[in-house]
Amino acid sequence: MAATGADPLIVRQLEFLGGMASAGGWRPDSALPEVAFAGRSNVGKSSLLNVLLRRRGAARVSRTPGRTREVNFFRVNDSFVLVDLPGYGYARVAKERRAEWRPLIEGYLRSSPNLRGLVLLLDARRDPSDDDRAMLSYLADSETPVLVAITKMDKFGTDAGRERIDAIASALELDADQVVPVSARTGMGRDDLAAALMELVGSAA
Ligand code: GDP
Repeated sequence: MAATGADPLIVRQLEFLGGMASAGGWRPDSALPEVAFAGRSNVGKSSLLNVLLRRRGAARVSRTPGRTREVNFFRVNDSFVLVDLPGYGYARVAKERRAEWRPLIEGYLRSSPNLRGLVLLLDARRDPSDDDRAMLSYLADSETPVLVAITKMDKFGTDAGRERIDAIASALELDADQVVPVSARTGMGRDDLAAALMELVGSAA
């Protein structure tokens, strides 16, 4: 999908609504459509959110100590709620703690009737992990639409990049229109992701 013309997502207003710290815990009461972002730690989620929103604020809030393990909610332009899920599967964290993300993320997914879709970030350099697969199968079971953003594409030239995308898409049996290659470093794919996101939330920002 090639982006043409106007910027699909111009952020005029960005408000941090708060964080959900445990399954069944507080979450904002909002009727707006939601879209969530997930991926393993270090996948480049904060960097991509900064580029997507053209703000540094959102990712900074989500990185403040204590908030990295929360589900963080942001209202964008009074038009949708962007949900930043905690990064999962950090290799240096003990195995018991690695599994902590599941109840919280699953708790969020269960308590979110307005969720229109989830953007799963995958690092172009890595093969999808068991956690990535678990996330995708959970989303398939709950019939949640999924976009897959393949991050750090600047690490590859055109042909090698295409090969990585094909390898990841076929390993996970993804449709071509679900996959958006991106680079926070170069801005590649930002408008494509913004356009796909706006289609998911089903409204103009
Ligand atoms: P998070 O843990 O998922 O929020 O990931 P960060 O945004 O903090 O990024 C993790 C690491 O990947 C940092 O060292 C970033 O500089 C690097 N990174 C993030 N996005 C890109 C990208 O598009 N290209 C490259 N080459 N590195 C990136």
